[in-house]
Amino acid sequence: SVRPRSDAIIRPDFKFEDMGVGGLDKEFTQIFRRAFASRIFPPSIIEKLGISHVKGLLLFGPPGTGKTLIARRIGTMLNAKEPKIVNGPEILSKYVGSSEENIRNLFKDAEAEYKAKGEESSLHIIIFDELDSVFKQRGSRGDGTGVGDNVVNQLLAKMDGVDQLNNILVIGMTNRRDLIDNALLRPGRFEVQVEIQLPDEHGRFQIFEIQTSKMRGNKMLSSDVDLHELAALTKNFSGAEIEGLVKSASSFAINQKVNIGKGATKINNKDIANMRVTRQNFLDA
Ligand code: ATP
Repeated sequence: SVRPRSDAIIRPDFKFEDMGVGGLDKEFTQIFRRAFASRIFPPSIIEKLGISHVKGLLLFGPPGTGKTLIARRIGTMLNAKEPKIVNGPEILSKYVGSSEENIRNLFKDAEAEYKAKGEESSLHIIIFDELDSVFKQRGSRGDGTGVGDNVVNQLLAKMDGVDQLNNILVIGMTNRRDLIDNALLRPGRFEVQVEIQLPDEHGRFQIFEIQTSKMRGNKMLSSDVDLHELAALTKNFSGAEIEGLVKSASSFAINQKVNIGKGATKINNKDIANMRVTRQNFLDA
């Protein structure tokens, strides 16, 4: 729990609908209510209510569902600095003490800015992707080196220190919440945990809209492409897979039509249907 900042920090012009994230309205509302609603109010009110800010958010769920995307949008919403994104395995070093130093380095800029500007410091966001790969249950690795344990301890120490700084938010992401060291999941650490699931049909429709918005804006998508139908046909697709489908259909179309002339380069339903052969789980109509 973090002392409230001196300012209300949610951008007043922020609209989640404009953020290019499809099918995660419910999740975002949950994240907002549980982690950020308090940031709308000035600290005087927050203090009167006896509440404090959340400093650690865990997003978990299958790969490619938009966890990184939503973490970045949170940064926009909170008017934060460009987030530092680090992959779990990147932290680990075979040199003694280096992994811990890598963790400490992630917090350095925020600490320095707090030292210089105090409450006027901007908010710094640190995003840990593949959190489970490094921050496993301590003592569970069996490599006998204890390196991983030290890394967990270092992150715990850093997160506990955020109480004093209040200009840092840590967002962890994982496909395997069950593997993560319990100490990291306790109140005051990654205390708000939200599951990001595969999109339902409406969500897939929204993601198709987002992923084709540029080509639609430029009138490059043929009118025979029905995004509702595509959403129905792509059960179990993640957002990343929908993006992949749209991209591969586009390159397919361009390769096919490059010599036919400008008017013919629109992406049509056949181009997308052709991708079925390359997409194992694209259900047949
Ligand atoms: P991983 O667990 O593998 O790190 P992730 O959940 O963080 O995956 P992202 O990296 O956010 O997934 O998604 C990859 C790309 O897929 C995004 O940059 C975006 O283009 C697209 N995408 C995924 N989910 C969505 C979504 N809900 N709305 C719009 N685009 C999405």
